[in-house]
Amino acid sequence: MNLILLGGPGAGKGTQAKKLIEKYGIPQISTGDILRAAVKEGTELGLKAKAYMDKGELVPDELVIGIIEERLKQPDCQKGYMLDGFPRTVVQADALDQVLRNMGSKIDHVISIDVDKEELVKRLTGRRTCRQCGAMYHIMFNPPKKEGACDKCDGELYQRDDDNEETVRSRLEVYEKQTFPLIQYYKDKGLLRTIDGIGSIDEIFNRITKILEG
Ligand SMILES: [Zn+2]
Repeated sequence: MNLILLGGPGAGKGTQAKKLIEKYGIPQISTGDILRAAVKEGTELGLKAKAYMDKGELVPDELVIGIIEERLKQPDCQKGYMLDGFPRTVVQADALDQVLRNMGSKIDHVISIDVDKEELVKRLTGRRTCRQCGAMYHIMFNPPKKEGACDKCDGELYQRDDDNEETVRSRLEVYEKQTFPLIQYYKDKGLLRTIDGIGSIDEIFNRITKILEG
């Protein structure tokens, strides 16, 4: 069960990822985590990556791919894995494909959690944060008992700059633009399965497992 999970900001990807890991006992492989691990373990590729990171530069694709390849060869990936945040580009997807082919392996499913943009805007702009204690609320999904005030400390709730509509819309557009070619790439390969991301956490999870087990 080798998976790639796609989903933009607010689509609920993190929640579904957690449930998938629990249910199937497969590791979640995120680029950031494995880069940090490789650096910490001081592997040859990890040290090379560290040189870029220390200079504040982006780690080049071939190095990232190499580190992912090392990771996918670990015993805990035997039963499968879920890639998170990688590949981001078609170039990376192609390189991954090559690496997997050399290992006699492949990606089985690419699952994209699809949520209408206006719904995402609603989800992402509804967040409120307490100025005093940092507690988080959502005006629709997790509203405070008293409007505008924190349940825990009665502090003032405010909307962070990151959560205002303009910022949210531009974040969503960036994601769409970046991901569109990747979606197309996996569609062409017949691997893409799009899931309706509207519904309860369990409903959405059932849609995903139906595909995986179907
Ligand atoms: Zn508070």
